[in-house]
Amino acid sequence: MATKEAITGGETIKTITTHYIDGAFVESHGREVMDIIKPTNGTVIARVTLGDEEDTRRAIAAAKRAFATYGRSTKEERAKILRRLHEAASARIDDLTAAMVEEYGGVVQFARPIVESGVNAFLASEKALQDLPLTRSWGKTTVTLEPVGVAGLITAWNANALFICLKLASAVAAGCTVVLKPSELSSLQTRVMVEALHEADLPKGLLNVVTGLGNIVGTELTRNPDVAKISFTGSVGVGESIMRDGAATMKRVTLELGGKSPTILLDDAALDKAIPAALVLAFMNSGQACAAGTRLLVPKSRFDEVKRSIRTAMRVFTVGDPADPKTAIGPMVSQKQYEHVQSYIRKGIEEGAEVLAGGEGHPEGLEAGYFVKPTVFVNVKNDMTIAQEEIFGPVLCVIAYDTEEDAIRIANDSKYGLHAAVLGTDLQRARRVASQIRAGRVVINGMTDDRFSKPGPF
Ligand code: NAD
Repeated sequence: MATKEAITGGETIKTITTHYIDGAFVESHGREVMDIIKPTNGTVIARVTLGDEEDTRRAIAAAKRAFATYGRSTKEERAKILRRLHEAASARIDDLTAAMVEEYGGVVQFARPIVESGVNAFLASEKALQDLPLTRSWGKTTVTLEPVGVAGLITAWNANALFICLKLASAVAAGCTVVLKPSELSSLQTRVMVEALHEADLPKGLLNVVTGLGNIVGTELTRNPDVAKISFTGSVGVGESIMRDGAATMKRVTLELGGKSPTILLDDAALDKAIPAALVLAFMNSGQACAAGTRLLVPKSRFDEVKRSIRTAMRVFTVGDPADPKTAIGPMVSQKQYEHVQSYIRKGIEEGAEVLAGGEGHPEGLEAGYFVKPTVFVNVKNDMTIAQEEIFGPVLCVIAYDTEEDAIRIANDSKYGLHAAVLGTDLQRARRVASQIRAGRVVINGMTDDRFSKPGPF
């Protein structure tokens, strides 16, 4: 049975009691039920039965059976499946966007491009597969790229559709079969996605999905010897435990973790463009983005000008109904995340940073949901807690620097290294600065998704 709908107290509450195993929606063995809360007003919109170890083992067994055949698939067979997945997911872009807005509170101006980007990942993987030689020879030696086996995909809640599509597309292109464990906070969005992907008429057992808690379903995936690889997106702490637990069965582990990303504003930057760009980097996805540029490094010589420019540019960062296309910042995903962000805003004030915009509490008129005020702290020192720890909400720390070398030193003075940005007019200089930042990705003057030759959402 797929999603059921029941009318309770005048409101529609969806119930999900099944997982997707071996090509079918099957009743959960796990009995624990979790409420899904709408972040704009705190009401229950769905009840989800969470999977347990037994559900996970059934899903792994189905993926293992399917791997015996799919693991020997040709490039052409995989490419065909990727095209079918793209077609199936494309047909539900509106529904996937609506689910992200409802369940997560993602603003529609961000949610739609995120969903589209996810859906396009199937075609990007198809192209990558076509371009990649799977067999190479040197003399009498032949090297063949073989699929590793069953892949466990574990995802975070802040861009559910994107993570599922990216990870699934890579696994399918590689010839792996999959057990997906989405964040339990993304159960409704995942259901829409799985119903969409079911229409792609996949080989049975290629895709299996168990919704459940990390310490139950996630742990079983990480420890089970029949899972060869874990691809994880989430927090550093959980990433560490996955790496530790996965070592016992020699799993390949790919971890996409958190960040405290610097944005270096060079002294030749045109502030009318650079400051709005810096704020978009900081507040994208309501600040709940791993790549968010949450430390803005500003030359001391232009500090007052920058403050004025931020005050003006903040006017467009309106908070409110995520379904309204004009809204820039929606609610936090949960009460817990709301409290987490509030605690850091309080900490920043206690540490002596100055609030230039925002501050503690709900924005006026939005007390019912998990809305926070987009907050900009100035006079932040890089060793303050708010400049070192990931807040995962719309909180920007502005830090002054003296020289270019000083800016690079501050940018690199972080335990993270996920992402960074440089904003400036002289591109050669911006590239030189970018090359000295230790981060997995450094963008200059904005983000572009060059797979599709258009500005990217992340
Ligand atoms: P989280 O680490 O709490 O959870 C991520 C996933 O791991 C969830 O599905 C969760 O159920 C599961 N999980 C929890 N405990 C587990 C365990 N012991 N074993 C296996 N799985 C377990 O993270 P979150 O709160 O969902 O997401 C926010 C974090 O994710 C932030 O730190 C953010 O920066 C990071 N993130 C990173 C990227 C990236 O691409 N680098 C993207 C988005 C989010």
